[in-house]
Amino acid sequence: MLETEVAESVKCKFCGRNLKQEKLIIIIGDIETKINRELERCNCIQVKEFWKLHDYKKRKEIELQEKREKDRRINMLYEKS
Ligand SMILES: [Zn+2]
Repeated sequence: MLETEVAESVKCKFCGRNLKQEKLIIIIGDIETKINRELERCNCIQVKEFWKLHDYKKRKEIELQEKREKDRRINMLYEKS
């Protein structure tokens, strides 16, 4: 069974606006598991800058990982031959 719950106590750490934090509730038998979904992104300027940087860093990180993986494969190829 799946349910979503909205907790209202999350505030933007930059401007203090209340943000929606949805929780996904998975109920299997008697066991209830709550998973926090991604917090709603506030639209204040500070947050926009924060996420811009965050997304940029994440993208760079992924690029770096992909590059490492590629290098690893190339190395493996060389080692085999
Ligand atoms: Zn904000």
